[in-house]
Amino acid sequence: MKIYNTLSRRKEEFVPIEPGKVRMYVCGPTVYNLIHIGNARPMIVFDTFRRYLEYKGYEVNYVSNFTDVDDKIIKAAIQEGVDASVISERYIAECKKDMEAMNVKPATTHPKATEEIRGMLDMIRTLIEKGHAYVAEDGTVYYRTRSFKEYGKLSHKNLDDLQGGNRSLLVSGEDQKEDPLDFVLWKPKKEGEPYWTSPWCDGRPGWHIECSVMSKRYLGDEIDIHAGGEDLIFPHHENEIAQSEACNGKIFARYWMHNAFLNIDNRKMSKSLGNFFTVRDISEKYDLQVLRFFMLSAHYRSPLNFSADLMQAAKNGLERITTAAKNLAYRQENGAAGEMTVEEQALVEQSRDFVTKFEAAMDDDANTADALSAIFELVKFANANVSEGTTAAFAAALYDTLKMLADVMGIILEQEEELLDADIEALIAERQAARKEKNFARADEIRNTLLEKGIVLEDTREGVKWKRA
Ligand code: AMP
Ligand code: ZN
Repeated sequence: MKIYNTLSRRKEEFVPIEPGKVRMYVCGPTVYNLIHIGNARPMIVFDTFRRYLEYKGYEVNYVSNFTDVDDKIIKAAIQEGVDASVISERYIAECKKDMEAMNVKPATTHPKATEEIRGMLDMIRTLIEKGHAYVAEDGTVYYRTRSFKEYGKLSHKNLDDLQGGNRSLLVSGEDQKEDPLDFVLWKPKKEGEPYWTSPWCDGRPGWHIECSVMSKRYLGDEIDIHAGGEDLIFPHHENEIAQSEACNGKIFARYWMHNAFLNIDNRKMSKSLGNFFTVRDISEKYDLQVLRFFMLSAHYRSPLNFSADLMQAAKNGLERITTAAKNLAYRQENGAAGEMTVEEQALVEQSRDFVTKFEAAMDDDANTADALSAIFELVKFANANVSEGTTAAFAAALYDTLKMLADVMGIILEQEEELLDADIEALIAERQAARKEKNFARADEIRNTLLEKGIVLEDTREGVKWKRA
């Protein structure tokens, strides 16, 4: 299996540090708001990659953090007049709901920055002892960027180039830096902000230190894969490497994977530009399986432009797969008993080609677009070869193959269909009509059908009211 490694800018054969095991870290969101669908892109593509690693038999230790201390969280907390933790806990809970609805598996561990302060203090102390960090007069601790000779190796930037145009790196209040390239590891508290005591000052961590610390704690000094959106390459990931490798004296991560942006009108979707849709917004119009399918229809390193047309195409594509699955399930229930015919056995043999194609696509730097094409070929093959006389065993064999591949993509084949408001109203009208005709059996049947879907009816004087249980 090959992975495109941002470090070498080449596709490299994947060889894990420990055979059969993968240690993977994916930078997670800052939780001050509902996540937008740009944030959902790394969640979905790296979840799919993780599923593929598991499909190949690897045991994956997957860590993804929540950044729960940050200027934007504090600002939101001040605006609402609540503690910062109220904001972060609320949006962690909401983010987990979105992840579940997108069928993103929970990480093995989801650490939070505020619960890892001790580890951060330890790492900062080590960096100071080793001469890679220093304490300024006001108690701010800075990383001495030039002390790390390989700085720039991930983003392929040269320190002197960075220095040249970058006087602007000196933002106000950071004038106690030795060098404009230095970055903050720990900074003094401001009035009304959350803070922790430290040997240097009461304060809070800079952003980059948390990922080095959590990765070390949950995965060890050396990990296989570190991933996130491409905006994180510089400075975030570059700084993580500087911190971790200077502290631990080992190569931090062997493979660096970065997804390209989800764009809208060819500009990066972001909170700051205001050109975003939250996952929650999208869930009001589409099943989030459609969003997932849409994300996987492009290679993760290609920019992807969000549009209603592409979402419609994703919806159609997904339906083609789920309809084929339903037919196979039906044939499995109702097909001829007994063993497969000789022809059917040959067809099952032939269908393995689609699995081979699927694996070849995923082995080639997680090419989910081509992997979906292989699934479509299987669907076409199943539609063409399964019919009335087919044995149940044959339908079952094809169904199992389809399900196996769909599972890797995180596509759910048979979903409990949620009733839309309009469908509910129509059923209620039908029930009223049935009652009028004294067809109470049908009326009760409708009531029970609705109940099974979690819709509760209440007969009131003003007519029938309903609610979702
Ligand atoms: P943030 O909360 O901004 O730190 O982002 C969390 C994750 O979402 C990071 O991996 C970002 O790189 C990623 N991300 C943010 N915006 C986009 C976007 N428009 N397209 C793709 N990934 C994004
Ligand atoms: Zn990170």
